[in-house]
Amino acid sequence: MRKILLGLLILLFIFTPTANSTSHLDGRIIILDPGHGGSDPGSTSCQGLTEADANLEIALLLKTKLEQSGADVRMTRETDETLSNKDRYDFANNNNGEILVSVHLNGSTNPDTNGTQGLYGKKNKDQKFTQVLHQRLASELGVPDLGITNFASGVLLKSNMPATIQETVFISNSDECAKLTNGTGVRQQEIADSLYNGISDWFSQPPPSDGDSGGGPPPGKGKPQK
Ligand SMILES: [Zn+2]
Repeated sequence: MRKILLGLLILLFIFTPTANSTSHLDGRIIILDPGHGGSDPGSTSCQGLTEADANLEIALLLKTKLEQSGADVRMTRETDETLSNKDRYDFANNNNGEILVSVHLNGSTNPDTNGTQGLYGKKNKDQKFTQVLHQRLASELGVPDLGITNFASGVLLKSNMPATIQETVFISNSDECAKLTNGTGVRQQEIADSLYNGISDWFSQPPPSDGDSGGGPPPGKGKPQK
């Protein structure tokens, strides 16, 4: 009996997909858009770290992680440069992105304020996608859930693919600022990990049936043939 149980356990182990089985990200064209940059630093409420630079750090960590799962990641910027909203959505559209994720940190004059919020543009195109990502951040980052809300940003409205702005946490919050500037990069990685998990959730959904707009990702293409 014990041997049979052991055998069953081994079989279960062999046939249980591993938690990091991420073939659904293979070949996916993912546009990452670190908010602000160049002449626009974003929030400057955290001494020694602009929002623009923190957004870029998080986006680069996210890029690495997505590429390790086979995704084809294109960044609107990889340095501290000034981009217009048009630069961002043109880039996303011209690269045939399947999704667009704008990475931001929120700002407030109150150093106690914290939380995570997702912003969507068009209801059909962006709302469900925004919710899927937001759910991960709200459950994993240990900050208040500020929900998702409609926001008329050109980046969201003029991009052709599901798009979201994720106001991940408040850089103006004293605890967050301390964590983001302690030199370890741990908080940046945690935020990147949650965004990764949300993107992974999105692409592991079944493809939408005909007429079900905004219901899920398009069917997987797998690795592009070379
Ligand atoms: Zn911002």
